[in-house]
Amino acid sequence: MAFVTRFAPSPTGPLHLGHAYSAIVAHDMAQAAGGTFLLRIEDIDQSRCRPEWEAQIYQDLQWLDLSWPQPVMRQSSRMPAYQAALDDLWSRGLLYACTCSRRDIEQALSAPQEGVAAASGPDGPVYPGTCRRRNRPQSPRPRDAVLRLDMAAACRICAQQGMVGFQETGPANGGWITTSDASYASEIGDIVVSRRDMGTSYHLSVVLDDAAQGISHVVRGEDLFEATRIHALLQRVLGLPTPIYHHHRLIRDDHGKRLAKRDDARALAKFRAEGATPADIRRMVGLEPNSARNS
Ligand code: GLU
Ligand code: ZN
Repeated sequence: MAFVTRFAPSPTGPLHLGHAYSAIVAHDMAQAAGGTFLLRIEDIDQSRCRPEWEAQIYQDLQWLDLSWPQPVMRQSSRMPAYQAALDDLWSRGLLYACTCSRRDIEQALSAPQEGVAAASGPDGPVYPGTCRRRNRPQSPRPRDAVLRLDMAAACRICAQQGMVGFQETGPANGGWITTSDASYASEIGDIVVSRRDMGTSYHLSVVLDDAAQGISHVVRGEDLFEATRIHALLQRVLGLPTPIYHHHRLIRDDHGKRLAKRDDARALAKFRAEGATPADIRRMVGLEPNSARNS
């Protein structure tokens, strides 16, 4: 199998050491396998994405001596594909519009008569299903609505087709990860597959784009490990292949906290301005100098 991987940053701030680590690991794995390293710009959240951050991503990655084929896929140009997938899921009765505010959800979750403690899944508090019971079915699919996946129905479809899961090669949880046990639907809840302001969601776009780009190996941080359970299920429901996943360790600050976009102190641009070299960055994130490329 050809090895195709990607680095998929969102242009919502400067790339920091954690991004550098993720990009370099993916790039080096592709290089070692004689495969391809792609770059994808995840810019569906137009309220937070900025062209200057996108320009900075290209600069930072080039400075790190990484290269990738052109043209770069940008999620903002993929809306027709996302809409087609939503139409498909809607026509199969797997989606419903959700009109709950954040407050409605909090209240429903804390209401004593519900009798269940608010559980938290990989996507935050597990949605109590209020609109599943009140907002269905409608035709045609409403636009400008929050759409949720009926997780129990999705799991039933998956169960008919055998075990759902993914192959993990990362350091923490290697092996086959099963994601289709009976408790799954209630653990995760009905996830949002289309946000009102975006017309899609991270989960939907990422599985459609990985499939469209022929990604064989997804290399990303272990903070997304739980999200991969959702992705494997979406892939099965949408008839897409499930890549192999490699969730790598996270780069943390001196207090053990995971780096975030707002940690400008760790921005690659800042290290570069201070005279650091790409080899210094590799050392700072605990990677060997790239001997393959130097030889
Ligand atoms: N765009 C996501 C991020 O910036 C990465 C998604 C992924 O690698 O699947 O964290
Ligand atoms: Zn709702």
